[in-house]
Parts: sequence; C-alpha cells; structure tokens
Amino acid sequence: MSVRVAGAGLAGLVAAITAARAGEAVEVFEAKSRLLPSTGPHTEAVRNYGGIDALEELSAYGFRIKPFGEVHKAIRRSANHENVLRGKSYYLFMRGREDYCLDQMLYKEAADLGVQYHFQTKAPGNAEIIATGPPKNDANMLAAGFTFSAEGANLDRDTVIALLDNTVAPGGYLAITPGIEYHSIYSGSWTDLNYERVLGLAEQAFHRPWIREILGASRWADKIHGRAYYARDPIATAVRGNGRFVGEAGGFQDAVAAYGFRCAVITGALAARALIENLDYQSLLRDVFKDEFEQSFRYRQKLDRASNDDFDNLVKALGPELTIDQYRRLRGELRAI
Ligand SMILES: Cc1cc2nc3c(=O)[nH]c(=O)nc-3n(C[C@H](O)[C@H](O)[C@H](O)COP(=O)(O)OP(=O)(O)OC[C@H]3O[C@@H](n4cnc5c(N)ncnc54)[C@H](O)[C@@H]3O)c2cc1C
Repeated sequence: MSVRVAGAGLAGLVAAITAARAGEAVEVFEAKSRLLPSTGPHTEAVRNYGGIDALEELSAYGFRIKPFGEVHKAIRRSANHENVLRGKSYYLFMRGREDYCLDQMLYKEAADLGVQYHFQTKAPGNAEIIATGPPKNDANMLAAGFTFSAEGANLDRDTVIALLDNTVAPGGYLAITPGIEYHSIYSGSWTDLNYERVLGLAEQAFHRPWIREILGASRWADKIHGRAYYARDPIATAVRGNGRFVGEAGGFQDAVAAYGFRCAVITGALAARALIENLDYQSLLRDVFKDEFEQSFRYRQKLDRASNDDFDNLVKALGPELTIDQYRRLRGELRAI
C-alpha cells in the first residue's frame, strides 16, 4: 500500500520525500501537466528572524536544499520613512522550471527516491496527504506583478525591499526581491483580491523614481499571479477524514506577510512522519507552532485596517537603521512585517 500525496507543490514534495526516505512507496498526484510553482517563476525569501537559524530549523525537518542567496540588507519603506535592516535576514530560493529552482530539485530528489508521479491526474478522494494549495474559493491574499531580467537592472543581489503603501498594495506591501536570471516585483494585497486591479496599482508604482532606478534597463520577463490562503486555526482542521492537510491546502500560511514556505516544509514533513509512525498529526503541529497562527491572524486584522499613516508610524518606529539582532528584539513588540 503506498502513501498517496495530492499536489506536487512545496508541501506535497516535502511530504513525499519524507515518506520515501523512510522506505515507503509514494505516489504523487498532480493536476498540472508539469511541475511548476503555483504562480510564474519567482524568488521566494525565507525569513531568518527567529531564535534559531531558519535553514537549521528547516533541516531538522529533512529539508536539505541550499538557497541560492542570502539577504544582508532588507529595506522597508512607507510613504515617508525608510528603515534599513542589516544582517542575514532572509535566505533566497528560486521557484520555477529551471534546473536551479527549488521545485525541480525537490522533484528530482523525490524521483531518485522512487516516488511515482501522476501528472494531469486529480488526486483520489482518499489520499492520505492533501497538499493541493490554496482552495479556489477561500484564497484571502493575492500577489500580482512581474519578473524582470537581472541584466540591465540595478538591484543588489543581497538586498530586498518592501514598500508598505495602500495605494500600491492594499493592506500589504510591494516586494522587490533579487533572483538568479530574473528578479521579482509584485504587490501583495490582503484587502483587494482583484488581480487586474492590483496589477494596475503595482504598475503605477513602477513609475516612482526609486523603483524606475532599480528596474533600470531590464526587460519584463513574466507575470506573477499568485493567491494565498491563511486560516485562523489551521491545526483544528488539519485532519479531515483520511487526509492530513499540509501547506496552504490547510491554511498553513503566515497571515501577516504570506511567508508560507516554512509552513509548507514543516507541515509536509510532519504529516508524513505522523502517518508513517502512527503519531497524532495535530499534536505534532501544536508542539511546533503553538499559538503562532492565532497571533498572526490578530495582527493581520489590524494590518487590514492600517492607513498609510499607520504604515508610516510602523516604519518610523524601527528607526533609519537596525541590526538583525536589534530587530529580533523589537519585533516582539512591534510585530512588523
Ligand atoms: C508570488 C508568490 C510569492 C511568494 N513569496 C514567498 C516568499 O517570499 N516567502 C515565503 O515564505 N512564501 C512565499 N510564498 C508562499 C509560498 O510559495 C507558499 O506558501 C507555498 O509554496 C505553498 O505550497 P503548497 O505546496 O501548500 O501549495 P502550492 O505550491 O499551491 O501547490 C499545490 C499543488 O497542488 C496541485 N493541485 C491542486 N489541486 C489538485 C488536485 N485536486 N489534485 C492534484 N493536484 C492538485 C496544484 O496544481 C499545485 O501544484 C509566495 C507565494 C507566491 C504566490
């Protein structure tokens, strides 16, 4: 009898690899005809704000893929203020179809372990692990933007920028992240979920002089169109019938800033472990995440109501410059993005 995983996104592939490493036969069912992240190719950043190094934490769940880069300068901007955070604040991974992308590396690792893939195949209703990504009708966050060529652009490889401004990214932030061949720029919105409208707001922002400078003589490569789903208490609904829900299928997503990568890896690994070792998946989840989701949910409610003055105050409170250690201490009080 094999372990059946629905969905070949990040959470599903981590679950498949965890089960296959333990010697289980694994089948992965993927609705798409080929392996791709849920949106166009783009950079994803894993926050390194915690007490332990973010990569060390993920490696404890069997995640062994190395990032292509590290961020040592994270700039937060609001309408009238700017804060520069110095120190190792994020690890960078590329998502997409090129060999250097996380998706392809995980796909290959799983295939080498003997995992059987069924593309263009909807998962059977009784799959043990459900990793189908944000449910179509429940998505509550939207990303809209572009990748642009690194060639011709003026973005340092170790720098990310977040602009907190409702006129550009309603209730969220515009993110600029460096990639290998292509960088990413997109508005992440929580309060307007209309793709065309949010893309239009992001495009207007591209005319701002400092963004124009970063875009330089680069060329647009592809569109980014993503959705996310966070739940207030995803652990309560993590087991339904025969299925253990992982990643965004279960609402395991950071409601504050949409950093769902960490949740996808941890839940994918824990669900596979729970299944194989006959452990209680929900207890494992509570031990790791504690009240993290409830706290993020409450802060998200505040952010959804934040005005540009509130965003200004938030960035101003951080001061013009901080080290990562100072930020870690402050973050508990400010819960800044
Ligand atoms: C533009 C963008 C930028 C992001 N940036 C960051 C970032 O910087 N940092 C961070 O931490 N997170 C980021 N995230 C979030 C992160 O990518 C996600 O939280 C994570 O990848 C979710 O993985 P998943 O496996 O749960 O879902 P998905 O990646 O959505 O995978 C689900 C898979 O299931 C398949 N599927 C769906 N239905 C079925 C079915 N019935 N049968 C079979 N297969 C099915 C889908 O085709 C898909 O391949 C970003 C997301 C987007 C969209």
